[in-house]
Amino acid sequence: MPTPQQAFLTLPMHREIPLIEASYTEVLRIEHYQGTVDCHCQGCGREAVFQSKAPLLTFRSGHSPGAVRLSVDEYERATRHNQFSPEQQFVVQQLALRDRAFTVEFSCTRNGEHKLFFFFRVHDGTVSKVGQWPSVAALEETGIKKYRGVLGERRFREFSRAVGLHAHAVGIGAFVYLRRIFEGLIDTARQAATGEPGWDETAFGRCRMDEKIQTLKARLPAFLVEHRHMYAILSKGIHELGEEECLDYFEPLKTGIEMILDQEIERRELAAKADRAGAALNAIRQKLGSA
Ligand SMILES: [Zn+2]
Repeated sequence: MPTPQQAFLTLPMHREIPLIEASYTEVLRIEHYQGTVDCHCQGCGREAVFQSKAPLLTFRSGHSPGAVRLSVDEYERATRHNQFSPEQQFVVQQLALRDRAFTVEFSCTRNGEHKLFFFFRVHDGTVSKVGQWPSVAALEETGIKKYRGVLGERRFREFSRAVGLHAHAVGIGAFVYLRRIFEGLIDTARQAATGEPGWDETAFGRCRMDEKIQTLKARLPAFLVEHRHMYAILSKGIHELGEEECLDYFEPLKTGIEMILDQEIERRELAAKADRAGAALNAIRQKLGSA
């Protein structure tokens, strides 16, 4: 069962999660979520913290005349301390498992007019996310926008396609695009190495990916070299793993790719800064030397 944050932000659309009677509070935790999520805000044009507007869990109790209102955490704590009778707990369980659709609304903590909406359906003992606004594509596009420069237009499109396919529960297809990004990074390093003294293109072409990465390791982000087995996982996904497994493994692999790209961005920024500082220092030296 995904955590509420995962259910809102990364759970693929229309993926049915079975609800087990013993853990019926998990779905209530989504429906009555009282916390925040971190996500790109279209209104602010940058990352923001969104506060849930979901109502508290509300039900009729045997003892009190009015309805009981509390968070799901409080309900679970009270249940552990036997503050609700088995009959009352049964009422809440039925509330959790009944067929319905529900919306969870969030407001940006900078500006309450900036909203997020997530739609869920509970049906036949399963819960699934069936919609959201803004769309996953719109949210993710902005979330990965910073990689456009380092990936180039074509690879960036492929990266957003990977994210979009995963969001629509297409696991193996998403892996195909992530693997292309990975291969693209190796190819960029290869192109830079071509022409170096002693470079043997034919021998390199015959190498397995692991050996290629070892050969190019001075030109590759450290995270990629350290976690080069990512490529084996991506390839296994395409050839051997099922849709569900690929969906489950997607997020860590995507984060791994982002780590690699983050390191590459950092390397480029440092190189550019070193160039600027070097040029400025040389200019001073020349000026002082000629004076
Ligand atoms: Zn905002």
